Amino acid sequence: MEFNELEKVKESTLFGQVSALGHEQVVFCHDQATGLKAIIGIHNTVLGPALGGTRMWNYATENEALTDVLRLSRGMTYKAAITGLNIGGGKAVIIGDASTMKTEAFLRRFGKFIDSLGGKYWTAEDVNMKTRDMEFIGMETRYVTGLPQTMGGGGDPSPVTAYGTYLGMKATAKKVYGNDGLEGKKIGVQGVGQVGMYLVDHLTKEGAKVFITDISEEKLSAVAGETGAKVVGMEDIYDLDMDIYAPCALGATLNDDTISRLKCQIVAGAANNQLADEQKHGYMLMDKSITYAPDFLINAGGLINVYEEYLGDYSEKRTYTMAENIYSTCLEILNTAENDKTSSQEAAIKLAEKRIDDIGRLKLSR
Ligand code: NAD
Repeated sequence: MEFNELEKVKESTLFGQVSALGHEQVVFCHDQATGLKAIIGIHNTVLGPALGGTRMWNYATENEALTDVLRLSRGMTYKAAITGLNIGGGKAVIIGDASTMKTEAFLRRFGKFIDSLGGKYWTAEDVNMKTRDMEFIGMETRYVTGLPQTMGGGGDPSPVTAYGTYLGMKATAKKVYGNDGLEGKKIGVQGVGQVGMYLVDHLTKEGAKVFITDISEEKLSAVAGETGAKVVGMEDIYDLDMDIYAPCALGATLNDDTISRLKCQIVAGAANNQLADEQKHGYMLMDKSITYAPDFLINAGGLINVYEEYLGDYSEKRTYTMAENIYSTCLEILNTAENDKTSSQEAAIKLAEKRIDDIGRLKLSR
């Protein structure tokens, strides 16, 4: 069953939802004492243990949290596969308010749940989870990455994610404009959090005209002050006269409404699951002659960073060298999509699935 069909089975049985995207295992974690409610989604472990961050979010409903973890963990499978990493796809979500609930006991209890999976799932940071939180989780399990560099970890993966996204954007510019220079290009960045702020830094340093938006006035004024980027309203970003739109907040911002408003030639950003409906909106962008850099491909820098840590003996230099491959893979995908007359998202998924199938078969043979 395809990703976009997940919406249709939301109302169906629990196993209906879990099987919709082909998940191996979904674990519900609950602790009365700390109020912990978390879901760990293990999508595919053909290439190796499932590795993916934990997101903490005040979901309106439990079903929303389940949908999110299912979509995100599937994305991790494809991200690892297309990046050439020997790990599978997983993700965890914690339901609740990150500003009030994240006590030491809460995080360590979550760490114990991860430990109980015996290494089938490894965690890292995602939205609302910081390096310090990984330290607490790491007190209860060794299946954790994203630890500070002082503890032998790779630290915050966001700068590497931003670097990979920047390279993916440049590769897409090369495909669309014939050269990858971003100087003078008008670029709208939605979300100047951990990744967005580093991305804006790369872009302004290259001489791009950057427009930023965020819920947080504080982050906006800090980033605008440091980089000279111009602040625009949260809704105005979609109507902006821009060359490139870079979604770096939450997912599903490419939908019927927003795509019809976009006037750019390129969409290239770090947010996961940017296409509200992978099939429909991938083709809708294509019909509007907007070239889309598949999110799970160009935002893989953070995963590369935690993968390096997972392998042991973390090296920043090796991490950045590996992240540089994003440029050539992105160009390859855009060329394949053009030749096959498919959406870039579909071309990227096909390549990822091929690697999983090929390596899966290899593992079966003796
Ligand atoms: P973050 O929470 O630090 O930043 C997200 C920012 O988006 C925040 O500043 C938030 O206020 C803002 N935001 C939320 N909703 C918004 C809206 N409607 N309009 C404008 N701004 C809005 O998270 P992050 O780590 O920077 O991650 C950003 C995205 O990139 C997420 O989708 C995440 O899953 C994805 N991603 C992050 C990494 C990483 O290394 N951190 C790796 C891969 C993918």
